[in-house]
Amino acid sequence: MPLEVTIPENEVRRYMGFRGPVEGSPETDAMIKKAIASLEKDCSPRYVSKAFPVTVDGYKVEFADVVIESRALARNLAGCTECVLFAATAGPSCDMLVKRAAVTSSAYASCCQAAGAAAIEAYCDMINDKIRNEYEAKGLFARPRFSPGYGDLALAHQKDWFRLLDITKNTGVELTDSLLMVPTKSVTAVIGLSPNRLPCVKQGCEACTMASTCAFSRKG
Ligand code: SF4
Repeated sequence: MPLEVTIPENEVRRYMGFRGPVEGSPETDAMIKKAIASLEKDCSPRYVSKAFPVTVDGYKVEFADVVIESRALARNLAGCTECVLFAATAGPSCDMLVKRAAVTSSAYASCCQAAGAAAIEAYCDMINDKIRNEYEAKGLFARPRFSPGYGDLALAHQKDWFRLLDITKNTGVELTDSLLMVPTKSVTAVIGLSPNRLPCVKQGCEACTMASTCAFSRKG
């Protein structure tokens, strides 16, 4: 199944460390386009999501049978009554493409790596939009998504996401003993849902003009 979303070329360039659209040689441009075309065709994206009631008390966040101590997550979810946990993957094709490319061209492998990162981000944005729209219709408004490993939300909580969403069965993604996901282009996250609407931006608190004053900013 193809990716379902377009991989933005400017995002691929950003992941490669380029600052503008004109940086890089024509050869690099061609490799970026080739990597994007391959991934848009060969990705096999999947996701799973589930909603839970959530409570926040000080730095303590509780949903399902999980208790998380995290200042940044508590701040992000303050005022939320529900949260949606989700896991998404672009599938194994990116890792395979990078491996194959590395045999002949490290430059092309870098393009594939960056295109894969942009692919899973674009796919997560699409899921995020779906969840946001679904709950807005019910009078609940989405906060920016927040992932285990971000800020002081311990990566060890990946295990809670895997258990509550049965991620391996539902998406094929596995969690290693060192808490890394395989395929690597996979994401877990929580989206808080509040009865109060905020002017949140899709790119998250880091890109929001309110980040320095908003009481709910995940930047802390
Ligand atoms: S800083 Fe902006 S994006 Fe982040 S929670 Fe506040 S309004 Fe939403």
